[in-house]
Amino acid sequence: MTGGLEGYDAVAEANAQKSVLAIHWSRICERLKVEVGEVEYRTWLRQITVGPVDEDEITLYLPTRFLRDWVRGQYGDRLGTLWNAEVPAIRRVELQVARPDAAPAEPAGEDAPTPDIPVAHVRPPARAAAPAPVEEPRQAEVRSDLAAPLDPRFTFDTFVVGKPNEFAYACARRVAERPSSPGFNPLFLYGGVGLGKTHLMHAIGAELLREGRVSVAYMSAEKFMYRFIAAIRSQSTMEFKEQLRSVDVLMIDDLQFLIGKDNTQEEFFHTFNALVDAGRQIVVSADKSPSDLSGLEDRLRTRLGCGMVADIHATTFELRISILEAKATASGVMVPAKVLEFLAHKITSNVRELEGALNRLIAHANLFGRPVTLEATQDVLHDILKAHDRRVTIEEIQRKVAEHWNIRLTDMSSARRARAVARPRQVAMYLAKQLTSRSLPEIGRKFGNRDHTTVMHAVSRVTELMEQDPAFAEDVELLRRMLES
Ligand code: ADP
Ligand code: MG
Repeated sequence: MTGGLEGYDAVAEANAQKSVLAIHWSRICERLKVEVGEVEYRTWLRQITVGPVDEDEITLYLPTRFLRDWVRGQYGDRLGTLWNAEVPAIRRVELQVARPDAAPAEPAGEDAPTPDIPVAHVRPPARAAAPAPVEEPRQAEVRSDLAAPLDPRFTFDTFVVGKPNEFAYACARRVAERPSSPGFNPLFLYGGVGLGKTHLMHAIGAELLREGRVSVAYMSAEKFMYRFIAAIRSQSTMEFKEQLRSVDVLMIDDLQFLIGKDNTQEEFFHTFNALVDAGRQIVVSADKSPSDLSGLEDRLRTRLGCGMVADIHATTFELRISILEAKATASGVMVPAKVLEFLAHKITSNVRELEGALNRLIAHANLFGRPVTLEATQDVLHDILKAHDRRVTIEEIQRKVAEHWNIRLTDMSSARRARAVARPRQVAMYLAKQLTSRSLPEIGRKFGNRDHTTVMHAVSRVTELMEQDPAFAEDVELLRRMLES
């Protein structure tokens, strides 16, 4: 496990806060539309953008003084009431004419994408890295200076290591320490979306930069192609090649993008060979292993597989918990273990989504100064959780409950009456009644052909115990939330 995430970044938090407000705002807009009608809404209210929250007051912007005065007169009170109903901590609404620099909240549901970093070309200390403008595909110019910053959040320190990624992590570290070692060139990292490939590549770049020894160029395969095309258009392919071939470490991200782009593949193949032959390091990432990247030229696939191939596996529950713990700690917000467990159970797809969910929770907590609880989590992450929901079956309930109390799954239907077995079984019955539409006799049958009165007894017994024992109630509640659709 690596250390804390000192790099936790205020910008990310501000963005998450904006997206939290945008979600509330989009709900309010839905209500307003119904209340005032589509035409009225479009004429006056659609122009509103959401500004910052200061204590109990939220600022809303309108583009002109006229609009501001009109909206204030007609809808001022209503806006206040709706905001307060949506977010009780907000008690007042301030309407202002938008400052030209006031950045409106992003529309709800669209998570701000991480900025694509075209190229990092780091040759310290003489040439400082300067941010490059985002390039259009058709820009017919390859700049002689390829400099652009690496994402400072993506370092080895902020990468949480666990079983699924420890090998890839070790390989990346090794390349950062000793680039171009035999056996590690090229380094080919592969794995599903959002599992940390880009993070590791940037970490290699950041480490080499810290050491200040070599020049590094990082770019996505897509950018590689755009640059190549631009170079052809401006008849500067020689210059482009020279630039690329002058770096010590070349990193190309998401190589699968080159599938079907034969000319670019060809160019990449030549660049690749020239660099490796000159003893430079190549790092490549893709969503599949070299042998599975059908659609890439055979000779390229062969060469890609010649060095070190490291895959990043899907996350495990343990890794997700470690990542959440590290990120929560770095944020300085107290997030209860139950909430972290809940998130790690619910959001299993990839780290990016997990991180997005946690960031939103943290933003919400900071914005409204309220502690993070399971209830708040369900509310704030309503849309994300819904996307991960599926219908729960009695089998799933039995499995989760058995896991939770560490009993055998077969004991859900066995005749054993020991408390250690009987109690979890009762909880599973209770949850089956709560979470599925099965009848009592149907549920009974799934639990080793028990009678429906046994299920009824279980339901009332669990209800009773939950009232008497808060810790038990919390356990059951956690299970319910995990399973709930
Ligand atoms: P990929 O390039 O494989 O699609 P990224 O490297 O962009 O995935 O990772 C997605 C997000 O998840 C990033 O914000 C990254 O920092 C984070 N992330 C992924 N794996 C880890 C990890 N093991 N520890 C900490 N953060 C991680
Ligand atoms: Mg990536």
